[in-house]
Amino acid sequence: MVITSLLIANRGEIACRIMRTAKRLGLRTIAVYSDADKDALHVKLADMAVHIGPAPARDSYLKIDALIDAAKATGADAIHPGYGFLSENAALAEACAKAGLIFVGPPPGAMRTMGSKSESKRIMGRAGVPLVPGYHGADQSNAALEREALRIGWPLLVKASAGGGGKGMRIVDQAQDLSEAIASARREAKAAFGDDTLLIEKYLTRPRHVEIQVFADTHGNALHLFERDCSLQRRHQKVIEEAPAPGLSTELRARMGAAAVAAAKAVGYVGAGTVEFLKDVGDDFYFIEMNTRLQVEHPVTEMITGQDLVEWQIRVAQGEPLPLAQEQLVLKGHAFEARIYAEDPARDFLPATGRLVHFNPPQANAHVRVDSGVQTGDDVTIHYDPMLAKLIVWDESRAQALARLGKALGDFEMAGPATNIGFLKGVASHPEFAEGAVDTGFLDRERAQLVLAPKPIPQTALALAAIEILLSRAAETQAQAKASCDPFSPWFQANGWRLNDDNHHDLIFKDNERNLPVTVHYQKQGWRIDLPSGSTMTACANRLADGALEATLNGFKLKARVLRHQSHLTVFSQGETHRLELFDPSALAAKRDSQGGSLTAPMPGKVTAVHVRPGDAVTLGQPLMVLEAMKMEHAIKAPADGVIEAVHFGPGDQASDGDVLIAFALKDDADATA
Ligand code: ADP
Repeated sequence: MVITSLLIANRGEIACRIMRTAKRLGLRTIAVYSDADKDALHVKLADMAVHIGPAPARDSYLKIDALIDAAKATGADAIHPGYGFLSENAALAEACAKAGLIFVGPPPGAMRTMGSKSESKRIMGRAGVPLVPGYHGADQSNAALEREALRIGWPLLVKASAGGGGKGMRIVDQAQDLSEAIASARREAKAAFGDDTLLIEKYLTRPRHVEIQVFADTHGNALHLFERDCSLQRRHQKVIEEAPAPGLSTELRARMGAAAVAAAKAVGYVGAGTVEFLKDVGDDFYFIEMNTRLQVEHPVTEMITGQDLVEWQIRVAQGEPLPLAQEQLVLKGHAFEARIYAEDPARDFLPATGRLVHFNPPQANAHVRVDSGVQTGDDVTIHYDPMLAKLIVWDESRAQALARLGKALGDFEMAGPATNIGFLKGVASHPEFAEGAVDTGFLDRERAQLVLAPKPIPQTALALAAIEILLSRAAETQAQAKASCDPFSPWFQANGWRLNDDNHHDLIFKDNERNLPVTVHYQKQGWRIDLPSGSTMTACANRLADGALEATLNGFKLKARVLRHQSHLTVFSQGETHRLELFDPSALAAKRDSQGGSLTAPMPGKVTAVHVRPGDAVTLGQPLMVLEAMKMEHAIKAPADGVIEAVHFGPGDQASDGDVLIAFALKDDADATA
């Protein structure tokens, strides 16, 4: 049966990516969305979109009935589940079959078997696929697990059979820690997967994660599309993936590929799947699990093979044979993928939320691909995975591809929630990574080097920030002058002209708590900028059509973009991103006039402490209240010297984003009314 319209039961970048191929193939695309996603990119890209429920995934993207109803109501003939959510859920595949819909994925039986790490290992063992030494038996008593642990030896890994995303995994180094590890892995597995079956594996100390992309059709054909190396992981979760695996011999590639194809055949597999192996030092490799879906990192395989795996999935789902035979597949060049997350490396990689004020990825071309599901103005919420985009690069050699990765990460402009881009850039320029000498523990070992304390803002970035402010003030003044009766009035000159004064502007920037005064003197042509380091720069600049700046600083010409969001400034320049604040007394006064000095919750959270009472006099920066959000504490501080007028929330209260927490009078106002 031919698929003519496809419902994508997912969101974010993968929903957009699947739609891209579906549209190219001439299919009608149907999106589904939750309350939180009504303006999301995947909804905009689709030919039609169906609302399926409230923001929490369990009430929308995880509701099988709602998805089937949406498919029926829109006349879809197939459902693509993407990855995550219900992609490995056999019940969705069965519900599709019952409703007469094609499920773009493997048969439910293969999904069930492979969904259990223990069961899949039993089948793989019988099919002659090598396994990590360990225990995956049915006897789950403490006595059996402890006996097997002693046989396997230390260190070992206790794993949840139903596990995924690194959950329910415990490394145990010595006998006395075993019973506690078993108990806590069981608890975590039960809570996360509703199944507390455990298995035990020898813990390999420096393995690499090498996985094989397999494909099978309904005509009995199965093949592999080479490997991906996903050894760059943080706490057992992938961060940067590449294909091919560095240093893998052709002979070993063929052996691993054959083992993976044998694994797929052993379970009657159909569609796209990934067989994951750990490769030990030397040429030994062991099966760990099979993922029965499209992987996040599938683009690196597409880049080195020139194939579109979503197209393959759709063709196989409608009953066509695989488009190529094993011998026709050619591995060409090298590709990397970096996962870009809204998370803060400086705060233990805590997921970050908030408005995406600016999202401007590097230009796509033959070497650079960006798969993203967000756009400027979107809100990053706590409801979904914090991955915003994937940056994929390709070149002839690994070294060239890695250089492209570093450059493209530098060109990725984003402002709003914290991201891991700086961290990824550090990884991309790490000498050991450049040599390809990495294992699954590499990132966790190197973390201290990679999560650097923020560096002071370079003087060039300060000069660019000052230029941005002067150019935008000049534009505002000109607009006002145009609108006024006397456009030639000196009051409307933007060149810093003042009565009885040298024509200059004083600006104060703030880098965390540090004040950085910058003085700009107007000259016949351009400016002279006095910087906090004591140095001086001559500068001139103009604004480009896309809002960026073209500046000449001390004779060096460069392009930069400075973004202003209230008092926050983000400077994108020379592959670096710098954040600072403009301390602007007039803005504070304007805020006082418009808001009466109220302090609002920056994000939803629980008030855990209140340090002030109405009537208290406070000074600039003094902590007034503590708000706990996403397991982090945020101090609400006095924005200026002043007096507390009212406290609207007490300890234990839940505040929503934007709620007024404290009413605050600036010192001058308080004095005036006293
Ligand atoms: P999940 O399904 O939770 O992602 P996996 O079994 O796929 O769990 O393993 C995830 C990662 O954990 C691997 O890529 C590897 O880094 C690490 N890991 C898993 N098993 C072992 C092992 N036996 N020895 C060492 N590391 C392991």
